[in-house]
Amino acid sequence: MNKSLHEYSVAELAQGLRNKSFSAVELAQHCLARIGGDASGSFLDVNGEAALAQARRADARLAAGTAGPLEGVPLAHKDIFVTRDYATTAGSKMLAGYRSPFDATVVRRLGAEGAQDDAKATGGAGMVCLGKVNCDEFAMGSGNENSAFGPVKNPWDPSRVPGGSSGGSAAAVAAGLVPAATGTDTGGSIRQPSGFCGITGIKPTYGRISRYGMIAYASSLDQAGPMARSAEDCALLLGAMCGPDADRDSTCLEVPTEDFTRWFNEPLKGLRIGVPKQFFGPGLADDVRTAIESALAVLERQGAVRVEVDLPLTELAIPAYYIIAPAEASSNLSRFDGVKFGHRTADPDDLIDMYKKSRAEGFGAEVKRRIMTGTYVLSHGYYDAYYLQAQKIRRMIADDFQRALSVCDVIAGPVAPTVAWRIGQNSDDPVADYLADIFTLPASLAGLPGMSVPAGFGAHGLPVGLQLIGNYFGEARLLQVAHQWQQLSDHHVQRPGAAAGAGAGAGAR
Ligand code: GLN
Repeated sequence: MNKSLHEYSVAELAQGLRNKSFSAVELAQHCLARIGGDASGSFLDVNGEAALAQARRADARLAAGTAGPLEGVPLAHKDIFVTRDYATTAGSKMLAGYRSPFDATVVRRLGAEGAQDDAKATGGAGMVCLGKVNCDEFAMGSGNENSAFGPVKNPWDPSRVPGGSSGGSAAAVAAGLVPAATGTDTGGSIRQPSGFCGITGIKPTYGRISRYGMIAYASSLDQAGPMARSAEDCALLLGAMCGPDADRDSTCLEVPTEDFTRWFNEPLKGLRIGVPKQFFGPGLADDVRTAIESALAVLERQGAVRVEVDLPLTELAIPAYYIIAPAEASSNLSRFDGVKFGHRTADPDDLIDMYKKSRAEGFGAEVKRRIMTGTYVLSHGYYDAYYLQAQKIRRMIADDFQRALSVCDVIAGPVAPTVAWRIGQNSDDPVADYLADIFTLPASLAGLPGMSVPAGFGAHGLPVGLQLIGNYFGEARLLQVAHQWQQLSDHHVQRPGAAAGAGAGAGAR
């Protein structure tokens, strides 16, 4: 079968480049042309010259036999990772046009430089970055509608959101502009947009990946991760992203990276899948329930064993998260004062006036809402009533997961209660967006790894994501289950606009 270059997986592209079936320059040009014709609004900054220069260096390393494992494969970075070659905005007017003097660790590891200082460069994966992709402002949102640079359209239906906050990453992969992208997940921002756009994404255990150069939202929750079409592609990127970076991020654990594909050939027979009843309550839309139930039935036919588990505090994850995350955000975002970097108001009356006006002009409505909430819950008299209570709930949620994971190997359920909603549908009701995070927030609060795997299609032919949650450092297990599922199903290779086959025709054996 003759496939176009943008239809290849990361694994196939890496192989094709090594075999010289095509060059990194040809591949970059192909993707850049597709980005040029894109209508989803996913890219915020593209730098063809820098991309082609990287691609030429990749071709030279491929020829010289010094190539990294993913040498020459294109990718895009969520605009929350700082980059030297591209502007970094975090989706905010506050940082419009900002240029970082350094690259984030994730950017370096996936690129050619590796994670070390230039002097002791060990070489990275060798991927070619084509640009930066849109996201909710400072990663606060669930639909990519909070970006100061416009919403992103879901490639499956342009009237709908791609999910958030890594909506540009998900849309760019789903639309076939890049084979993979980075995302970050604080409360679901890798899993939920992956689910809404029908791609695969994994948020690893908190601390697996360095946060150095990742613009902070809620530091005790923020984790980077890969978004791509398949579990295999995610495993390849994850392997390159993980690993210690203690000099630069003290919360990055001293755990070496792994071969995340090592269990791919293990069958599912005997795997215990924990199904929390709280993930299947009345708030779950029927189309999502049907898709998830039929995915679970397929896994059971492979010999997996379904066990019911209890996560009784699932609902409380919402208030706990929406206290803790804004609290940390209010502190993290205090650095944007118009002095060292970021937007500065014109003609302030005095210093205080400059702070006030710079922040009033630079931040969008949702970010201001979070700063105010966060400041309130941390203030004297409310700290004990809100923040401390939320921290207690967080601990109890983590303990519940440990109990559940003592009787099962992975936990499975939906990523979100519904398929992607219409752009603008929740614009007067921010709490509606918060509530839709119910199934992703618990694993975030517990710091557990979680992923979204295409599970089928629901209402309006829109993708449904199956969420898999594992124990700490259990990424390889999640990816094995996802990979096995993708050997039995074809949802992850369905493409928007691919006419026959999308939606109704998709199936699982
Ligand atoms: N929707 C959640 C929020 O707005 C999660 C965002 C994220 O994971 N970055 O906070």
